[in-house]
Amino acid sequence: MSSNRKRILIVGGGTAGWITANLMATHWAQQGFEISLVESPDIGIIGVGEGSTPPLRGFMNAIGVEESEWMHECNATYKVGITFKDWSTKPGFSHYFHPFVSQPDEFTAPAFFYNSFLRRKGIQLEGHPDHFFLATELAKQKLAPVAPANFPFEINYGYHFDSALLGKFLARKAASKGVKYVQATVNEVVLDTQGNIDYLKSAEGQIFKADFYVDSTGFRSQLLQQALKVPFISCTESLFNDSAVVFATPQSAQIEVQTHATALQNGWAWKIPLTHRNGNGYVYSSRFCSKDEAETEFRQHLGLGDADVEARHLHFKVGRAAVHWEKNCLAVGLSQGFIEPLEATALDMVQETVVRFIEAFNRGNHSDQYRAEFNQRIGARFDAVRDYIVCHYRINSRTDTDYWIENGRNEKISPSLRAILSGWVAGKNITDELEQQKLDAYFPNVSWNCLLAGKGLYPLPEQLVPGNELANKYDVAKLHKYITGCALNFRPHTEQLALLAPAPAMKAVHG
Ligand SMILES: Cc1cc2nc3c(=O)[nH]c(=O)nc-3n(C[C@H](O)[C@H](O)[C@H](O)COP(=O)(O)OP(=O)(O)OC[C@H]3O[C@@H](n4cnc5c(N)ncnc54)[C@H](O)[C@@H]3O)c2cc1C
Repeated sequence: MSSNRKRILIVGGGTAGWITANLMATHWAQQGFEISLVESPDIGIIGVGEGSTPPLRGFMNAIGVEESEWMHECNATYKVGITFKDWSTKPGFSHYFHPFVSQPDEFTAPAFFYNSFLRRKGIQLEGHPDHFFLATELAKQKLAPVAPANFPFEINYGYHFDSALLGKFLARKAASKGVKYVQATVNEVVLDTQGNIDYLKSAEGQIFKADFYVDSTGFRSQLLQQALKVPFISCTESLFNDSAVVFATPQSAQIEVQTHATALQNGWAWKIPLTHRNGNGYVYSSRFCSKDEAETEFRQHLGLGDADVEARHLHFKVGRAAVHWEKNCLAVGLSQGFIEPLEATALDMVQETVVRFIEAFNRGNHSDQYRAEFNQRIGARFDAVRDYIVCHYRINSRTDTDYWIENGRNEKISPSLRAILSGWVAGKNITDELEQQKLDAYFPNVSWNCLLAGKGLYPLPEQLVPGNELANKYDVAKLHKYITGCALNFRPHTEQLALLAPAPAMKAVHG
């Protein structure tokens, strides 16, 4: 690859394509890159993917966008974590909250680790994660995670948003950064003698030629997997879900500040609160139930009765491409892989892929010198996310359907996850295992501990014995007081969101 590569062509105008366009246009603003995005007018976007993790804030900051600019326009709300409900049948653990942890938690998290560790050793201590983190309280009270200026701690949070509106917003932003937009459906990818992409051709015969191509064509992966024949590594052995049915329902007056992930008979349902509606989806395995059965169960779950609400059915494949950057092509988004929506990690992966690519491309003077290192890094990230998601299923304790029984017995898990699980059950400190495997770089130690403790992976209640004074080092009631005290600093979510709405135009004042 020569060092004067300057023309970049992104194929696909879903969230992945537009995030890529904005990041590249921002980072390479002064370097003479010509960035274009071509999008099919006939192939739609997937139109789901409405929950984020905290790094989306970093993305908006990186491209110079304030919350006041985008949130209202995209019907966005704040997100402080996810409630997992009905994944476990262990007494006292029917639900737990996976918090986005923040600075105030530095005072309480040690108590959680300590109690949880001793409880695994059979000491009767409070080990449910819901008692230890500020985000859990904010979620319970529906408070926005936006701290007042005099609050001395950083607060970590993500967002929920309307994905179609976010795409439109980002398209406009990219245009303002000089990204050119063309509507056309690419139907031919022509390779040169070295196997690089030479040019693309549209159905109408238009030719698109660039030095470097980004495949953001969604599950089609038209450039990376179809044209460059990069193999796909499936995860279906450990992640059974491949389908979803999606409904919108009305929003209530008090908007939630969390996602809900509720286990149903053959999968789980998300509920994502936006300002104008709730997005709901049932993610299930078509091996265990039909489309119609899933829809019927989900309608009942949502209490829709016979209401005339239209359902959307989706099919997806879980896994990842063997490499993400091949020849002169980078795949970003669903075209590079997808590890199902639990924990809402896909957009974070998009962001990470593009940021790391820019880093590697710059470091190699716009050559492919650091391609192998980049591919290894992104592949490892996918695998780390996969293991965290697989863990949710593997440690479920439901026995009501074959789906859950088979998930709970599934031995097709990675050696890495096996080591974490056996370490936990043996009463070891899993921090060392996570650090050694470098897994804490994606889901931090606290997330792994919340997952394992939150599903009640402890000795049975009758096996627990009261602890001595040393074991009872932390007073949970005092921690609760501290957490609720911190929570007093935050406004109701709905009130905070109202502040983001543009002020009504001032009426002319006549003297
Ligand atoms: C059920 C489900 C739930 C999800 N939930 C979440 C979540 O909560 N959080 C999260 O972060 N992610 C989630 N995701 C993932 C998220 O939806 C995607 O990562 C995100 O929308 C980006 O998609 P994309 O841009 O890669 O693909 P798409 O949205 O499918 O966009 C593909 C684009 O490529 C264009 N295109 C395709 N072929 C051609 C062609 N030949 N020529 C020209 N243009 C072409 C299309 O027109 C379109 O613009 C979810 C995914 C699924 C399936």
